[in-house]
Amino acid sequence: MKNYTIFGNPVAHSKSPCMHNLAFSGLGEEALYTRTLLEDGSKLREVFLANDLSGANITVPHKEEALRACDEVDSFARAVGAVNTIVRKGDKLHGYNTDALGFLKALQKFELDIKSILILGAGGSAKAISVILREAGYEVTILNRSEARLESFKAQGFQTYCFENFTVSPYDLIVNSTSAGLEDDALPAPKEMLIELLCNAKASIDIIYGKTTPFLKLSQNYNLPIKDGSDMLLYQGVLAFEKFVDNRHSFEAIEKYMKRAFI
Ligand code: NDP
Repeated sequence: MKNYTIFGNPVAHSKSPCMHNLAFSGLGEEALYTRTLLEDGSKLREVFLANDLSGANITVPHKEEALRACDEVDSFARAVGAVNTIVRKGDKLHGYNTDALGFLKALQKFELDIKSILILGAGGSAKAISVILREAGYEVTILNRSEARLESFKAQGFQTYCFENFTVSPYDLIVNSTSAGLEDDALPAPKEMLIELLCNAKASIDIIYGKTTPFLKLSQNYNLPIKDGSDMLLYQGVLAFEKFVDNRHSFEAIEKYMKRAFI
């Protein structure tokens, strides 16, 4: 029996154990996936090895610490500075980031004619998503509430704005990658600014999952197709699972079982 877990703080809400255990049992893998509340991220490697884990996922706030816990980190995870998936190979821990590719898959399933994307927020998720979207050929702009977190985006050559210096222009897709609306009724940007953006957009996505956030509700007022973060969560899980089982099962087979966690 192989053991897997998700590390986070908090972690009680995580859907990952349900998603992965459905896929493990559906695909006949002898494995158990649990959740581990980890307060001190610097202990991640120690706890991973002490529990004899074969792999793990990492959620807020330990994705950066997870990168430091690995012996090898793939180039994309290193570029975005965050690891959400660790696989043990022999006595080495290998780190990956499947969040961003998960988002890209979710966007592709949306089947819209999108060229330009405005990302609201400049946190860890925005970092990962912006890099993969640009690699995939989209024009990406970042808009954040405050200036400080924009520095690393500027250094990578992204167009960046904070609310004070932003003038609204049309973007095909507006993505909320902030935590506004997760546990409150906040919008990710001033309402008037959002209304102008949404009136000129083709669609909007919120990466928060499992609820219609105030941002998505506002988007619905302007008859935009919307998507929450459930597909991103599903696909980052499928991509992590592929790595856990060393690609023994197809993406579609894993997806079939994991999807059942969202019914
Ligand atoms: P971070 O803490 O790294 O970044 C948070 C960002 O949100 C910052 O840019 C911050 O701006 C901004 N922000 C927070 N509150 C507000 C507000 N009230 N108004 C405007 N901006 C605000 O978070 P992450 O990037 O790690 O995660 C963000 C969200 O993404 C979370 O809600 C998380 O649940 C979700 N998520 C979903 C995933 C999925 O699979 N669907 C995967 C990963 C994350 P500032 O710089 O000014 O502080």
